[in-house]
Formats: sequence, structure tokens, C-alpha cells
Amino acid sequence: MIDDQAEEPPSSGHAAENVISLPLFHAPRVASLARASRFPISPQSQAFRRRYFTQTNSAEWSDWRWQLRHRIRDLRELERIFALSQDERAAIARHEGPLPVSITPYYASRMNLGDALNPLRRTHIPVGDEYLKTPGEASDPLGEDGHTAVPGLVHRYPDRVLFLTSPFCSTYCRYCTRSRMVGESGEYEFGTSQWERAIAYIEAHPEIRDVLLSGGDPLTLSDDKLEWLLSRLRRIPHVEFIRIGTKVPAVLPMRITRNLTRMLRRYHPLWMSIHFTHPDELSPEVSEACARLADAGIPLGSQTVLLKGINDEVATLKQLYHGLLMRRVRPYYLYQCDPIHGSAHFRTSVERGLEIMRGLRGHTTGYAVPTYVIDAPGGGGKIPLLPEYRVGREGDDLLLQNFEGNHYRYPDPQDPGGEATPCA
Ligand code: SF4
Repeated sequence: MIDDQAEEPPSSGHAAENVISLPLFHAPRVASLARASRFPISPQSQAFRRRYFTQTNSAEWSDWRWQLRHRIRDLRELERIFALSQDERAAIARHEGPLPVSITPYYASRMNLGDALNPLRRTHIPVGDEYLKTPGEASDPLGEDGHTAVPGLVHRYPDRVLFLTSPFCSTYCRYCTRSRMVGESGEYEFGTSQWERAIAYIEAHPEIRDVLLSGGDPLTLSDDKLEWLLSRLRRIPHVEFIRIGTKVPAVLPMRITRNLTRMLRRYHPLWMSIHFTHPDELSPEVSEACARLADAGIPLGSQTVLLKGINDEVATLKQLYHGLLMRRVRPYYLYQCDPIHGSAHFRTSVERGLEIMRGLRGHTTGYAVPTYVIDAPGGGGKIPLLPEYRVGREGDDLLLQNFEGNHYRYPDPQDPGGEATPCA
């Protein structure tokens, strides 16, 4: 099962604990240590494995299928590993509904096991607030079901479609927009006959030039299945562009095997949007996964949901975005949290989101500033939100404010055909 990795060294120079702070002269030593363990395993993950998975060796730990088989999914297993709060224990005990509890052992190793307020832990272990419904919430807040052209294919924008490949994710985020369909509820079907219908629809619509594969998580499919789908889509002449939306590189990075990247690079142009939440996710394993994908020529972007008390601080997001740039991932979207049922405890105010954007723009590299968007409830699509930098107008001058609050004028005549004099 792990044969495909047996001969695979990590990408050179990317296996360090933190590629930002590692002094250059240390790189060869760290790379050779990581090489010996096939896929890098951080000291944090090693300590966790030795303590909670005593019968498991490093090779098994670095096998993504082992990680899937050993997901932490029930109260007994959670209690074995985490010091659960009363609130968490009660919420897990009464859990019902379509969104299961599931955490890969690797991702659990990134969490603080004794602190219920730990950011990553809060995104994956339910609490009582998850059962509260507040006004404006819905099970399908983006109105995807209403834009479903054929089962599993959402056609909202004229030239692109969202192809829902699978209901399965390796871990389930408690704020998931698609909580109505991911997991094992069985209400939504994702068989191959559904894929065939979706492909036939795309073939019949020459205006579709861009296909986003999502789910669930497409990278939890086997290489063969994913390749079948990519090859079918690539045979459609008007499909210019394929994107994969995934959280796998953050929660199951060992899934990014050499076999997978060898296969993916046959289907360019292929882009990837990776769901990242917090700088605690930026492990050596994640560095390796991103390096393998980037080395395969796949442009990488990130998508992050703004979450109250988890990542809604300028310093937190700056650290995340700087870390992503170092791993060749361009911060792409920062989403206002969708009003899914039971999400009030995750949602910040929009004003807070704008404050964060004010704290990023001009204060860091432009590449580290994502687009802040609300995905409009009811199916209106993504609407960008920007702090106001235009503060007014005086005659033909536009009045502007920069990131430091200083004011400037820009000549912007409302009648551009007005008086002009020669330059010299
Ligand atoms: S990885 Fe994405 S689709 Fe899966 S549970 Fe998280 S938000 Fe939902």
C-alpha cells in the first residue's frame, strides 16, 4: 500500500519544520533525516504517534490510507486522546445529523489535546452551540441545490461549473457549507452514473470552459478514479481549465504521493485551491505536500474561512499567509463564514473582516492579501468586500486615503474631454 512512496525522497529543501526560519546550512541534514522516513514526520506528530498509536510504525503513519482507516470518529476514541470539556462531551454524545465527526490522526497531532479553545480543535470537535439555530441560517445557504443542472453539478456562473465528486472528506469542519451532503447521510448520491451525467452535461454546453472539482474532497478518491475523471474532462475540447478544491494537503498531507503528482501533471492546466485555516496547520508535512504539488507545476491558491476566536486576528492571518507564500501557495479567498445551521458561534461581523483587510493591505506583501468575499446567500455568487479607500471628491479630484490613514488627491475629471494644455 505504501510502495509508491518507498523510493520517494521528500522534495529537497522543503522538509524542514519551518521553511521560513530554517538556517540554510541546516537544510541538508534535515532533508536526509526526512528522506529516511519517506515522508517527513514532524517531532510533534512522532510524539503523538508514539503515545496514542503505539502499535503503528512511521511507514504506516505516513500512509494516507492508514490515516483514513484510523480516523478519530467517536466519543470513546476522542476521550482516549483529548481531555474533552463537558460541553464537547455532551455535544458529541448527542450528535446526530449528516455532518459526522472525523479527524485524521495526523491532524489531531496538530491540536492541543488539553485545551478546548485550541483553534484547530474548535473547527473539528462539536460543541453545544452547533445545535443552536439563529435567524438567517439555512442548510443550503448558497442555494447550490437550486442551481444544480444535473445531480452533483452546480451551474451558477455562465462559463464554469462546480463538479461535486464525492460526499467524503477525511476530516469534517464543523462550519462546512456543504454539511447537508458531506458525510454518510446517503441523501445525496455520488455514483459513477452521476459522474457520467455530469460529464454529458458539460459536453453538451460549449460555454463551460472551467470545471471546479470539489465535494467532499476529490483528493480522497483513489488515483485511478480521479484520473478517470480528469481524463474524461480533458477530452472535452471546450474545457480549458480544471481546478481542484481540497483540504487534503492540510489535513492528510501524506496523500500527496509521487504517484499522485505524476498523474496530476498529465492534465494541465490544472490548478488547486487548498483550504487552510490557521498557521498551526503549517507543519513539515504540509511543506512537503505543497512542494510536491508546486513542483508538479500546479498553481496553488488558498481558501480560508474567517472564524470567530480561531483566525479573526490580523497577526494570525498574516502568519498564515506569510507561511503559505513561503510554501508557494498564494492566499486567494478569505470567506465570510456562510450562515449554515448552527454556525453563529463561528461567525464574525463583516466589520471585523474589513478591519482585518485594513490591517493586511499595505502592511504586508500584496501577494499575501486575499480577496475578502461573502458568498451571497441564495445563490448570488461571491461578492468582494473592500475597506473604503475613496473618501470623497473635490471638483475634479478624487480624495483617497492610504493604508496609514494619510490623504491624497488623484486628478479624475468627471468630464475627461475638458481643457488640456501641451506637456512641454
Ligand atoms: S473539507 Fe471542505 S467539504 Fe470537507 S467538511 Fe471541510 S469545509 Fe466541508
